[in-house]
Amino acid sequence: MTFGPSPQYPAYPAPSERAQQLYDEMVAFVREEVLPAEADYERHRLAAGEGDHTVPPVIERLKASARERGLWNLFLPSESGLTQLEYAPIAELSGWSNELAPEAINCQAPDTGNMELLHLVGTEEQQRTWLTPLLAGEIRSAFAMTEPLVASSDATNIETRIVRDGDEYVIDGRKWWISGAADPRCRVLIVMGKTDPEAATHRQQSMVIVPTDTPGVHVRRSLPVFGRQDQHGHCEVELRDVRVPVTNLLGEEGGGFAAAQMRLGPGRIHHVMRALGAGERALAMMVARAKQRHAFGGPLADQGAVRERIAESRIELEQARALCHHAAFVVDSEGNKAARHLIAAAKVAVPRAVLSVIDRAIQLHGGAGVTDATMLSALYGWHRAMRIFDGPDEAHLTTLARAELGREPLFDLPETLLSQFRDLDEPTA
Ligand SMILES: Cc1cc2nc3c(=O)[nH]c(=O)nc-3n(C[C@H](O)[C@H](O)[C@H](O)COP(=O)(O)OP(=O)(O)OC[C@H]3O[C@@H](n4cnc5c(N)ncnc54)[C@H](O)[C@@H]3O)c2cc1C
Repeated sequence: MTFGPSPQYPAYPAPSERAQQLYDEMVAFVREEVLPAEADYERHRLAAGEGDHTVPPVIERLKASARERGLWNLFLPSESGLTQLEYAPIAELSGWSNELAPEAINCQAPDTGNMELLHLVGTEEQQRTWLTPLLAGEIRSAFAMTEPLVASSDATNIETRIVRDGDEYVIDGRKWWISGAADPRCRVLIVMGKTDPEAATHRQQSMVIVPTDTPGVHVRRSLPVFGRQDQHGHCEVELRDVRVPVTNLLGEEGGGFAAAQMRLGPGRIHHVMRALGAGERALAMMVARAKQRHAFGGPLADQGAVRERIAESRIELEQARALCHHAAFVVDSEGNKAARHLIAAAKVAVPRAVLSVIDRAIQLHGGAGVTDATMLSALYGWHRAMRIFDGPDEAHLTTLARAELGREPLFDLPETLLSQFRDLDEPTA
């Protein structure tokens, strides 16, 4: 089953014993180490100042500990032995502390998508040079597709040129929103550009691997998300006469568009899994606040309106999770391509649900909710951005509508609505 009603009944397999153990270990890790480390992380970033992108030392400490606990590279089935359905609740736990936990277990964007891509289409040499240190958590990477001057939700618009010159490719272009490029550990960019602007629309693009220390690569600035600078940054990157050997081509020439789709599918569903954890955290904060804060003679939790918001939040999160897990199940059972519509649906529905929970949590925190006194404002900013990155909602809705309009109905309905109206118009005896 891929999308919409089907005669096949969806029954999910139970998690393996190993998946259950890893889940329990992740609960312990988040409780014992990650959440207590958040203050340290924030202190370091505050002291370092807004424009600083160095890595708070607590991150490397958490990475070492997570690895010892066996919590490492769980996103990649060939490494972890987990299905996506088994990984989903673990990724969700990491979303409770989105700036620390995903990286602690080496399951952070954008590296996971890049690792998937290198794993799927990289040559042995490319895997040895880039995939091995990424899997070891020794370096970081970025994915450079979006451009400031063209509507990049339509990837066929990309203007960066990749021109072959003997044994080299020469790259010229300007990218922005390149997540991770400000991190001092970022050693490599996967750049999407056009190798043949005359080819068929979806065969013009290619991807090349560009080490960040290649002459001509300039990180111009990091863009804040609603005023907040993320540690690893979202950068504007200029590529001027950048030369790399032709062996840095990732996949085949003209295969960039297909490879981008390959990369974005798993990347999207992993974002969605983590977002559920952020939603759960906002709901937990809402509940704690409702019990602890008193107004008009009692705790806020006694107010019907507050109770209703808490209940609505639980419903929305459960609905969103069901869709996410269904998409993960279809990835496991039928592959990324078959799951693409469910992934698109989850990519729209989950951030919406999570944002509405965070919004209610902000409301319940009153003035504190809109400051950085709690993490709610940062959570709001990130998940609002999620409705744009990895494709804006509208792009996914367009795909979904196309699939729905083209789908064979499960039943041939016996009568049209119009004929029913005609029947009603006929005089009765
Ligand atoms: C926090 C963050 C991190 C990011 N990280 C990366 C990264 O690491 N690498 C990278 O390459 N990019 C990254 N991006 C960029 C992101 O993927 C793009 O912003 C996104 O694809 C939209 O492209 P655009 O900004 O050019 O918007 P445009 O393509 O100009 O679209 C603008 C708006 O037009 C509307 N629209 C678009 N298509 C349709 C349609 N079919 N129907 C109706 N309306 C439509 C939507 O409302 C859309 O938001 C990131 C963005 C953010 C905010």
